[in-house]
Amino acid sequence: MNNFFMRFQQWMQRLMYGRYGTDRLNWLLLILYLVFWALGAFTRFLLFPILAWILLILVFFRMFSRNTSKRWAENQKFLSAWSRVKGFFSGRSAELHDRDHRYYHCPKCKNKLRVPRGKGKIQITCPVCHTEFIKKT
Ligand SMILES: [Zn+2]
Repeated sequence: MNNFFMRFQQWMQRLMYGRYGTDRLNWLLLILYLVFWALGAFTRFLLFPILAWILLILVFFRMFSRNTSKRWAENQKFLSAWSRVKGFFSGRSAELHDRDHRYYHCPKCKNKLRVPRGKGKIQITCPVCHTEFIKKT
């Protein structure tokens, strides 16, 4: 029995030799696969199992790919997009929870400005391009 596992391990190692294996993006695809598979099972809506199959094929394609640098680049792209999404939401929630300030974008250069709340109509000067505009706080 032990021998069988040893052989299996060796076989796996040979199989995976020079291949990409798994990464964060593949884990996400695998999770999405399970989600779509479950949705398909519950709703019996044909689109979900099709999407699940496509995701599973993608997971295996990336796992056994020999083009490791390309797969690595894909994962890096995914990770940077993911951190942007996270940054967007955490930035938004900071603004929502800030009761003392209002946030505006400069009409000219789109620079983000923070002004104190409850001061009535005030003239704001953008510190970047010095454009002046009036806002109610
Ligand atoms: Zn500006």
